[in-house]
Amino acid sequence: MADVNAPYRIKGETGEWEVVVGLEVHAQVVSNAKLFSGAATAFGAEPNTQVSLVDAAMPGMLPVPNRECIRQAVRTGLAIDAKINKWSRFDRKNYFYADLPQGYQISQLYHPLVGEGSVTVLLDEKDEASARTIGVERIHVEQDAGKLMHDQHPTMSYVDLNRSGVALMEIVSKPDLRSPAEAGAYLRKLRAILRYVGSCDGNMEEGSMRADVNVSVRRPGEQFGTRTETKNVNSVRFVQQVIEHEARRQIELLESGGTVVQETRLYDPDKGETRSLRSKEDAHDYRYFPDPDLLPLEIDDAFIEDCRASLPELPDAKRKRYETAGITAYNASVLTAEVETARWFDALLEAGAEPARAANWTVAELFGALNRRGETITTTGISPQEAAELLKLVDEGTLSGTLAKQVFEIMLETGDAPGKIVEERGLKQTSDTGAIDAEIDKILAANGDKVEQYKAGKVQLFGFFVGQTMKAMAGKANPGVVNERLKAKLG
Ligand code: ADP
Ligand code: MG
Repeated sequence: MADVNAPYRIKGETGEWEVVVGLEVHAQVVSNAKLFSGAATAFGAEPNTQVSLVDAAMPGMLPVPNRECIRQAVRTGLAIDAKINKWSRFDRKNYFYADLPQGYQISQLYHPLVGEGSVTVLLDEKDEASARTIGVERIHVEQDAGKLMHDQHPTMSYVDLNRSGVALMEIVSKPDLRSPAEAGAYLRKLRAILRYVGSCDGNMEEGSMRADVNVSVRRPGEQFGTRTETKNVNSVRFVQQVIEHEARRQIELLESGGTVVQETRLYDPDKGETRSLRSKEDAHDYRYFPDPDLLPLEIDDAFIEDCRASLPELPDAKRKRYETAGITAYNASVLTAEVETARWFDALLEAGAEPARAANWTVAELFGALNRRGETITTTGISPQEAAELLKLVDEGTLSGTLAKQVFEIMLETGDAPGKIVEERGLKQTSDTGAIDAEIDKILAANGDKVEQYKAGKVQLFGFFVGQTMKAMAGKANPGVVNERLKAKLG
């Protein structure tokens, strides 16, 4: 396997290159209403059914900031240890587009709500040395635009304003990322944090989280090169493909004597390539100015402390807690990667399960079964309480490992509780030496030749006798007792 800690380099015709990446992540804020209007924000509604007069930019309408959207952005900032700016301001970013009836987007260019913070990622979950801390420059709050639909009719475009005015957080990273793998780890971690906090659902397929990917290349150790920005990339895999593709394109260009132009590009996932959309616009092209309809946003310490108090245990803290409880680094990282998994597993621990074994069982048995059955932790009928009951039956010696697997399969099929299954189907493990001895005697008698061989030194036959005994007892014999009795009888 490649060494994740080795610097990522791309070989060109004339030597090695380093790639430099900064991501601007747009995350749709979870809130019932839009940033400046009371219209609903649910995804997938009939077009233009969630549009207030403010979102449609009717003349004379005034925006009113939605406290919940501000609260969510502050909570997100606190979750990445960022500085919260008690004084921030909304600016108008002016441009014309058919999905933007106002003719400007209300955003925060000069005074964002959230300042510098950071996100720590692991390139390899089992290796603390693979940790990277990625700087976040700022998080500002802004309006989303509507959506144009070009594919319904050959000669017409339609506009859906449902998304118009929905609150977005724009989370701007520093140019600290140095490889597709780092960018992927950063996005996954950021998504996990947003979902733990509950400020964004992180659903990249539905577009509630999307990234603008800034890429440049340089010779290792030299100054940053000119970057391009590929807009609206909506999956982690695509972001990684954009970085690879853009880096190679820029390297080829530079090596053949060309220069990289700072421009905005689009990604075509079908072709796996980016293409130029427009030359890069600068802030002055947008004629930014403070929105005269809105007062500066002022928040106080009490509001910030309220936000802080509302935060749940975050992935890094949870992971540490799991590891301290004896869970392996790998299991801890798998169990904390998705908030739903972590919640389910926390409930299993609360139901009294022993952490290390519960983690092994969840990652191996439960996730294995869910994969096989095309289910997820949120759709499964297996409750943490029933899982705890199953693990307890093993601990008490009522079930052997083999029987526990059988009971678990029946739980998956029937939805019944493990105790009930054990009772009804008589699946209890037996340590009854009388019954076990009787079966062993039969097996030894029927396999005289193997007994001879065993006694003559072919000790690996022991496993054969164990297997035969377990089979004869329909898997219900206590394996410890079987081993002990066989040893006694075989001498
Ligand atoms: P702008 O306001 O013009 O979009 P910013 O300074 O806000 O520029 O940067 C936007 C994004 O581009 C940030 O995520 C930043 O990390 C990234 N970025 C800046 N310079 C570079 C570079 N040379 N290579 C790659 N990414 C860069
Ligand atoms: Mg930008």
